[in-house]
Amino acid sequence: MNIQWYPGHMTKAKRAMKEDMKLIDLVIELVDARVPLASRNPDLDELGRGKSRIVLLNKGDLADERLNEAWTRYFQEKGFFVLKVNARSGSGLKQLNGVVQEACREKLQRDRKRGILNRPVRAMVVGIPNVGKSTFINSFTGKACTKTGNKPGVTKGNQWIRLNKSLELLDTPGILWPKFEDQRVGLLLAFIGSINDEILHKEELAMELIRFLMEYYPGVLEKRYQIDVREEPAAGNETGAGMTAGNEPEDSNGHGSDQSPTGKKAKVQAASVLTQIAQARGCLMKGKETDTAKAAGILLDDFRSGRLGRITLEFPEADIP
Ligand code: GDP
Repeated sequence: MNIQWYPGHMTKAKRAMKEDMKLIDLVIELVDARVPLASRNPDLDELGRGKSRIVLLNKGDLADERLNEAWTRYFQEKGFFVLKVNARSGSGLKQLNGVVQEACREKLQRDRKRGILNRPVRAMVVGIPNVGKSTFINSFTGKACTKTGNKPGVTKGNQWIRLNKSLELLDTPGILWPKFEDQRVGLLLAFIGSINDEILHKEELAMELIRFLMEYYPGVLEKRYQIDVREEPAAGNETGAGMTAGNEPEDSNGHGSDQSPTGKKAKVQAASVLTQIAQARGCLMKGKETDTAKAAGILLDDFRSGRLGRITLEFPEADIP
């Protein structure tokens, strides 16, 4: 996969975020609950050093509930405060104020000791593109808030949204870039539609998704498309390495063994499933040939909008289903 990115943007974004970090107490980081690691930028740990941290598992409505819980534990064990939310519907957001207070307890205690009372916590929303930052800010702030500007120390026309007497939010989110150089990350972000499809080979992508679903969510494709995927599930994958955090889906040569989910047999199988989906959906070209490109588009669209059910593409290492 060849993904273009411009280092100039990265440097600029990083510098801007470094400046903004000086103004805040708390980082609210949004990740996509379907790919909680691939949708993070590890640089944030460095940039946000010394700040209170909350991870919001956003789009939790599209992700596997069992894995939402596993990921919540994963991030908690790493010392983050975590909340599963749906920024679009607003579900889960009510609990956020309480979590903010908890995450900033030490800072609030320090303030109190110094005789500083009622100084609101200042927070910034951060995440890679498309994780739902704007949706979240709109839902969370609603109409009840007031914008406050021109405060000392606030540069670049930054505005603070005052949510209540104890919390202010920087009105523009911090945008980070994903770890594109990792092919696995590129693939996962392509599945969820965060990378422009035009630069990708849709059929290849759809077949990768088919292989993943057959391995980890058996029955999903059959149910949705009324097809018969009766092949034996690919054997020889006892480690369950699949899309596990930190593992490449393929071996070090970039070739799966014949029996692994990335092996030759699985590839043939995925191609045949895609053809079956094309037939089931009446995707035909002139001469009755199946239009697998169209079927690929349908499958990706169904997955991204949750019509295949709630599916998580990454598993915490200790929690392989
Ligand atoms: P940003 O680039 O991080 O600001 O992302 P946006 O706020 O523009 O959201 C990207 C897309 O994700 C939009 O189509 C939103 O409607 C959608 N979205 C955001 N949050 C959720 C969520 O919790 N659940 C679902 N299903 N969709 C969401």
